[in-house]
This record gives sequence, structure tokens and C-alpha cells, in this order.
Amino acid sequence: MAPANKRLVMKFGGTSVANLDRIRRVAKRVGVEVAKGYDVIVVVSAMSGKTNELVGWVGEAGGALHDAREYDAVVSSGENVTAGLLSLVLQSNGIDARSWQGWQVPVMTTSAHSSARIEDIPTANFDTKFAGGMKVAVVAGFQGISPEGRITTLGRGGSDTTAVAFAAAFEAERCDIYTDVDGVYTTDPRVSSKARKLDRIAFEEMLELASLGAKVLQTRSVELAMRYKVKLRVLSSFEEQSDNAGTLVCDEEDIMESNVVAGVAFVRDEAKMTLISVADRPGVSAAIFGPLAEAGVNVDMIVQNIAEDGRTDMTFSLPVDQVERAESAVRDAMAREEINFHDLIADRDVSKVSVVGIGMRSHAGVAARMFAALSAEGINIKVITTSEIKISVLIDRKYMELAVQALHDVFELEKA
Ligand code: ASP
Ligand code: MG
Repeated sequence: MAPANKRLVMKFGGTSVANLDRIRRVAKRVGVEVAKGYDVIVVVSAMSGKTNELVGWVGEAGGALHDAREYDAVVSSGENVTAGLLSLVLQSNGIDARSWQGWQVPVMTTSAHSSARIEDIPTANFDTKFAGGMKVAVVAGFQGISPEGRITTLGRGGSDTTAVAFAAAFEAERCDIYTDVDGVYTTDPRVSSKARKLDRIAFEEMLELASLGAKVLQTRSVELAMRYKVKLRVLSSFEEQSDNAGTLVCDEEDIMESNVVAGVAFVRDEAKMTLISVADRPGVSAAIFGPLAEAGVNVDMIVQNIAEDGRTDMTFSLPVDQVERAESAVRDAMAREEINFHDLIADRDVSKVSVVGIGMRSHAGVAARMFAALSAEGINIKVITTSEIKISVLIDRKYMELAVQALHDVFELEKA
């Protein structure tokens, strides 16, 4: 058998396939890569707005407690339409292409419906087809099949993860993620006009930025890319592309020189809860955060104050739409006499702003510069957390834009 061609994975998001005209543009773009000699795996999202519509219908038909397996059956269908349509257009352009739904590959996943994880992508099927002349496999993103044989989906934004998983399984040269922005920016250009597109960003930085609120890539897809060292490129499907357009998400070693801080991320709608005067003894944190976890509350930052007379205050942050759920979880725990607090305060008007950069590992004083910049703007910091490559603060929401701009300025992110 002749050696296999080089492989490329190309992923197109919802806005890139929003109508037939755009699907024709996508087909042209795919044709360019086929002409270069690649065997191409294209992963598509549903046409923009489609998944939301399907989710809405499931809610109307099945109510809040709907069968998650049927949710997946319905919600996965948007991608099937796009995959078929793109294959048709590619074929009419004279390219040997066909569509594949997740179960046909098969993309094997866990049975965690609506947030399944990919376990395995057997390559034999595609290898045979590519060897037999197929040029493009158009894969419906976001979906797979469980060990029970039911259709699963990978969580919102999951087509990114499908794309990276295929790139890893087929040892693709690169995974190009086509979207409606032309790359990864130092911060959201809608918040700071000085935001600059990055040519390269390290996996670790992208992972932090994605989980801290930057919405370009599903967090899970970056995790996978990092684990399997898949070169990821984020680029626009709305512009003519050169070979090094967009932003390359890559290994640290592939970045020559970088700023100490790579980007500023933010989550606008956060809340802060404080339990005033809880007992300071072993087991208290477990007694508070256990019930919160069971109630599905995504606790992020946690601070415990210095204890006085055996009592302390416990503060944590959470998404603003989970405040009610959190309140009832801790009040129930109090009613069961598992915990005891004097008061419960919820602040629903906070945002989280974070600076991220692998350069922090080797540069001291980043936190001090960050705090000085916020203080110069008169912004009060309510909670601070740090990791090796990020510093996050919770501040009043009305200062969020100002904080992002001030931090962008102080770390001179407009300069490469
Ligand atoms: N269509 C799905 C969503 O809107 C998956 C994706 O586009 O990545 O979340
Ligand atoms: Mg997306």
C-alpha cells in the first residue's frame, strides 16, 4: 500500500456554516488544502443558532427533567445537517467527500449524556476510505456513541473537542479551528481597543484563558491538545488566509520570546457568598463545600478568614445564576445541624478579572504590579487567588472594563 497522505483537520464553527453561501466558501477553503495534497478531516458545527433552537424544543417537549438521552438525540442533529450539506457541495466541486455521524466512525464516548467524554476514535474506517481515494471526511462534531449504543453529545462548544480528538487520533499535521474571529487576542477587543492578536500562545496559557472566560475554544479541547501535543490554529473563515494566519496554540518550547503576561481574561457575571461566623474546627470546609458540590454549584475561589474565638468567616465565589441553589444547599446543611453560621451574605455584583502568562513562573512582582494598577484606578479587590501562571481578583462589576483596560496597559500587552 502507498504511504498515507499527510492529514489535516479543519473545524468550522456555527457562524462559518450559517447558510449555503457560507458552506460554499468553506468548501472552497477545504478544496485549497486538498489541492496541497492533504487528506482532510473536516469537523462541522451546527448552523449558528440551530443548537439553541433544538435545546429550546427539548425544554418545551420534555420539561426541566427531560430524558438526557433524548436531549442528545435531538441536539446532536444540527451537526448532521451541516455535515451532509458540506459533503454535497464538496462533491459538486468534484471532490471525493462523504459525511460521517459520530456513531458511524464510531466516536466512542462515556455515557455522561450532554457532557460525554471521548474515549476512543478507531482509525481503521477512515484509513481504508482514504486509501481508496476519499479526499475529505466530513464529520458531524459534538457527538458520539455510548457503550450502551446511545447517541451522546460533548457539552456546548464540543465540536472543538471533536476536532482535536480527530487530530490526535489521526496524527494530523495541524488542527485548524475556523471561527468568526481571526485569532486569540490579549483580551476581548470589545473591552479594550488596544487588544492585540497573538501570533502564538502556549497550551497552558490558552487553557487558563479558556477556563477563565475567553470563549474562543472549549476548555476541554485545549486540555486534549496539550496532552497529545496537537498543534492548534485559530483563524477566521471570513478572510483570505495565508499559511501563518491566526493564532497558533502550541508547546511552550515553540515560543521564542513572550511577554510575562499573555492575556487578561474576565468573567462578568460572578457572585460572592460569605458565611459569617462558622465554627473553626476540622471538617467544617467539607461540611460546607460537600453539599454545595452535590447541589451542582461551581465554586471557584475560596477564602477563609483568620479565626477568632474559634469562629471564622468563609467566602467563596460562584456563577451568579447559582446563588439560589447555593443558599438553599447551605441552609439545608444548617437545618441538618451539619454546619452553623450567624449570617449569609450574597454579593451578586462582582466580576472576576485574571492575568495569565507562563512568564510569571520566572518573573517576580507580577502580583504587585497588578494590585498597584488596580489601586491607581481606585478599584477595591475583594478576593484574590493565584496559581503558577495566573492571578485572579474579584472586584465590583461596575469596574470590570476599567480593570481590564488598566491591566492591559500596565503589562503593555499592546506591544509584541
Ligand atoms: N453546536 C454545538 C453548540 O452550539 C457544538 C459546537 O458548535 O461546538 O454548542
Ligand atoms: Mg465554539
